[in-house]
Amino acid sequence: MSAEETTNPQPLGGNEMPRFGGPATFMRLPATHGPADLDVAVVGVPFDIGTSNRPGARFGPRHIRAESVLLRPYNMATRAAPFDSLRVDDVGDVATNPYNLADSVERIVEHYDELLGHDVVPVSIGGDHTIVLPILRAIAGVHGPVGLVHVDAHTDINDAMFGERIAHGTPFRRAVEEGLLDPGRVAQIGVRGTGYAADDFDWSREQGFRVVQIEECWNRSLVPLMDEVTDKVDGGPVYLSFDIDGLDPAFAPGTGTPEIAGLTVPQALEIIRGCRGLDLVGADLVEVAPVYDLTGSTSLVAANLLYEMLCVLPGVEYRD
Ligand code: MN
Ligand code: MN
Repeated sequence: MSAEETTNPQPLGGNEMPRFGGPATFMRLPATHGPADLDVAVVGVPFDIGTSNRPGARFGPRHIRAESVLLRPYNMATRAAPFDSLRVDDVGDVATNPYNLADSVERIVEHYDELLGHDVVPVSIGGDHTIVLPILRAIAGVHGPVGLVHVDAHTDINDAMFGERIAHGTPFRRAVEEGLLDPGRVAQIGVRGTGYAADDFDWSREQGFRVVQIEECWNRSLVPLMDEVTDKVDGGPVYLSFDIDGLDPAFAPGTGTPEIAGLTVPQALEIIRGCRGLDLVGADLVEVAPVYDLTGSTSLVAANLLYEMLCVLPGVEYRD
């Protein structure tokens, strides 16, 4: 099917309305208020009261949408044409509670329960990484425990932060404890930096995760690594969670907990493109804090990575 033949919603072209005009939905897709008849729902989760250092990821969805106006529908590298075969809309934002973390988590679960009741694949724009816990609660409620490809400078498996069990550095420990993940089908890529103890990474390994420290990624293509990672996580539904701080701060300065010597943008593309063929049931891009992003480049990278996620979802057609 081609863009001319499909009745699916298409991103508004730059010859119909200049790219700096009109409402800034994700990729200038139609904005809807409900997921009925959709295959994929792009969802914003403006939430950052789980952050430990610099706040500001609550503004991520708005700025990523703003930078996404430049994106065009066809992937020149992979030949993916996601909007030919998938109905994708921007369904707006979750109404989080800026005064209450626990209530926000409940609100996110309820919102995703409703979306998933319509059999859509949610592609989420964060928001800090706390949001992946309620998203996974809803996902596991439908699909059972899922495999996970997690890109991040941090493993996010702390037991508690300042005594709190739900924060942006704890979601994957909670997800294991709650049975939301299949621990034998989890890979964490790009982790690095200073820690408190070796346990910061070893707890993950003890669960059966494949932990890829950044030193394994430096100065090389990640295509061979992704063959290994996909073998590891395949065998059932898989979730993709991409913390923008997995990238080097040179490419993604607009984030709350930057760590030096991170992934390059081409490596990020290799990781996401390497997920093609997996049974992806959801994906997110989190931790973009635009106030530290003076040129908008972090949000631009994030918008492109979200587009690349759309290009590897099940059911995407690839043009000859
Ligand atoms: Mn994270
Ligand atoms: Mn991180």
